[in-house]
Formats: sequence, structure tokens, C-alpha cells
Amino acid sequence: MSNSYDADKETFMGAPRNKIPWWPTIDYSKCDFCMECDKFCPHEVYEKTEDDVRKLFVKNRYNCVVFCRACAKTCALDALTFPDKKEITQLIKKLRAEKS
Ligand code: SF4
Ligand code: SF4
Repeated sequence: MSNSYDADKETFMGAPRNKIPWWPTIDYSKCDFCMECDKFCPHEVYEKTEDDVRKLFVKNRYNCVVFCRACAKTCALDALTFPDKKEITQLIKKLRAEKS
């Protein structure tokens, strides 16, 4: 499947997407690899592996939609966390100011 998304060119609220550290972090001490989050997300953020150690990881971090946390609601084990929204908002404002 072709994917025209290019994280290097994308912006969010006027700031370069690839400078905004917003994506899920998987807590492997909680995750049981049920894959619900991967099934749910339409943006190919997650990648499954056949590896016995880590069966799921965040591959395309910049595909994650800034401020989306929707997949966390599918995780019954509370294994997904995201950055602090206020801190990211401040960062976006700063990045935007630097550009102008
Ligand atoms: S937060 Fe949204 S965009 Fe990001 S991985 Fe989860 S469902 Fe996908
Ligand atoms: S939904 Fe939660 S427990 Fe299931 S694979 Fe994703 S992070 Fe792991």
C-alpha cells in the first residue's frame, strides 16, 4: 500500500510534526500483546514482530496524531502512556514562535 504521508513535511498547528514528541509508549511490564491497540489505530503507528521478546513496538511514531489517545482506551491493562498535553502545547507554541 502506498503511503503519501511524509513526517518530514507534515506540520501540526503550524509546528513541524517531526519536532513534536507525541506518540504512545508501551509499558512492557503490563502489556500482554493482545494487539487491540494495533487493530484499532488506522495510522500504522504500531508494528508487530515475530520476535518472542517484543511482539509489538511503536514503529511510525510521527504517524501518531498529535493529542490523540484513542488507542489507550482499547488497552485493558493500562499499558499505554502519552506525554503531558500541556507541555506539548507549550512546545508547539515555542516551535511556532521560532518559525515566525
Ligand atoms: S493515539 Fe491515535 S493515532 Fe496515535 S497510535 Fe493511538 S490511535 Fe493511533
Ligand atoms: S492494547 Fe495494551 S495490552 Fe494490548 S497490545 Fe496494546 S499496549 Fe499491549
